Amino acid sequence: MLEKALELLKKYYGYESFREGQEEIINNILSKRDVLAIMPTGGGKSLCYQLPALMLDGTAIVISPLISLMKDQVDTLRQMGMEAAFINSTLSVAELRNIIYEAEREKYKLLYVAPERLESEGFTEMLKNIKISMIAVDEAHCVSQWGHDFRTSYLKIKEIRHMTGQNPVVSAFTATATAQVKEDIINLIELKNHFELITGFDRENLKFEVIRINKKFPFVLKYVEENKGKPGIIYCITRKITDEVCARLIAAGHKAVKYHAGLNDRERASNQDDFLYDNADVMVATNAFGMGIDKSNIRYVIHYNMPKNIESYYQEAGRAGRDGESSDCILLFSPSDIVMNNFLIESSFNFSSKSKEYEKLRDMTNYCNTDKCLRKFLISYFDEKYEKEICGNCSSCLSTVEKNDITLEAQKILSCIYRMGERFGSNSVIDVLKGSSNQKIKAMKFHELTTYGLMKEYDKDTLKEIISVLVSEGFLSVSGGKYPVLKITQSGNMVLRGKCSVEIKKVFAKSKSAAETL
Ligand code: ADP
Ligand code: ZN
Repeated sequence: MLEKALELLKKYYGYESFREGQEEIINNILSKRDVLAIMPTGGGKSLCYQLPALMLDGTAIVISPLISLMKDQVDTLRQMGMEAAFINSTLSVAELRNIIYEAEREKYKLLYVAPERLESEGFTEMLKNIKISMIAVDEAHCVSQWGHDFRTSYLKIKEIRHMTGQNPVVSAFTATATAQVKEDIINLIELKNHFELITGFDRENLKFEVIRINKKFPFVLKYVEENKGKPGIIYCITRKITDEVCARLIAAGHKAVKYHAGLNDRERASNQDDFLYDNADVMVATNAFGMGIDKSNIRYVIHYNMPKNIESYYQEAGRAGRDGESSDCILLFSPSDIVMNNFLIESSFNFSSKSKEYEKLRDMTNYCNTDKCLRKFLISYFDEKYEKEICGNCSSCLSTVEKNDITLEAQKILSCIYRMGERFGSNSVIDVLKGSSNQKIKAMKFHELTTYGLMKEYDKDTLKEIISVLVSEGFLSVSGGKYPVLKITQSGNMVLRGKCSVEIKKVFAKSKSAAETL
């Protein structure tokens, strides 16, 4: 069996050997044992179901949410000489009818289908008429509410196995490996006595960096300039920020394109192609960009804002360096990112999962605040053991941290917020601390507060930074959307009462790292 697989690997793909895990997965599928494979993005999952599909009798059903990529994938397979087709909402009625006609005559070795199809009776009827060799579930984390991309139609997957009466072998693939997501995949797709394989999450060629920074654009501009000609992605949290960053890069003479859900299909496709085919260096995008993108030479992924959870972060950052060459994954963090993410969770419709999402956001914030090894943090998050304490290739391992005690400053700021009634945002608080004479302050009688002008010798940016630290360390909370309000938390009260101290960290690079440019 395996010799045959190796032969096909050379014949169709032109590769000499299997990568870690591929051989075992293929072996198990061929011997009809269900498989759960957790492999990092770029690990080579597709081949693990495509090869057995070629070797088994009948048609393999591949369930994938990546509608925009199905056509490319299928075209590639056809060019390689495999009979493949796809069914999704982009097909015309005539095309669909033709594919069903051919499928029922068992023309295809691989049939890619969008999960929504599983809810259509016409489609499930068709399945009953063909011999199914196997079912492969791509992006299997979509079945779980704990994942970052829940799709209800994934819950139908288990039914198609029963429905056809053929009991085909099922293999599930994902890059997300938290314990909860794994449990859900096993239970909700109903894997039986399955073989499980987790290949290394550690991507040694990726350098992880977290940089605390309020003025982000100058950093990005400098970085892009220094890395001209290298492909990179800049992820932003909103469409608006995406538009702005892209426009400013273009204005500075860089070849940048953008991608988000607010653009029409044509613009998105053409921008994506410009990036994939190296007509543009920089892709500025929301998280709508990237699932399933096969571009191996991405040299950097910059997160302009902190993403909503670590699963998303690792998946997005992991798009860098799929070719194994060293690449940078830089997260630019400012406390306003916490505010924006809170706002996004608050305004989302999915009430049931809100507390989960807040929990995940806290983990993400902890990643930004830790001074321990970032790689160890990430790998441990995915329930894997990282034996070393220091990886030597992340911003924590590459820098020394100098801590300054700012308890006194913190107390002054907190007591000012308290005296202002905890009803204002940082700008108003800073105005009062600096003794500003603007109208609003007078009107509110804040110039009569004992904290008025209490910190007038500090400059605005320093005060902003200290407030940032107070927010990110949890001494202050921020609530409200458009006009965020600072409130003192329980631990903030401890600081006020002198029971807890506050430190500010200054990072110094030991060797070349993005933090050095700060
Ligand atoms: P994933 O779906 O896990 O993100 P892909 O299946 O797209 O990854 O594979 C990533 C890249 O690795 C592709 O360009 C693929 O052709 C390549 N690849 C996969 N398996 C091998 C192999 N055994 N040898 C060399 N390259 C491989
Ligand atoms: Zn490290």
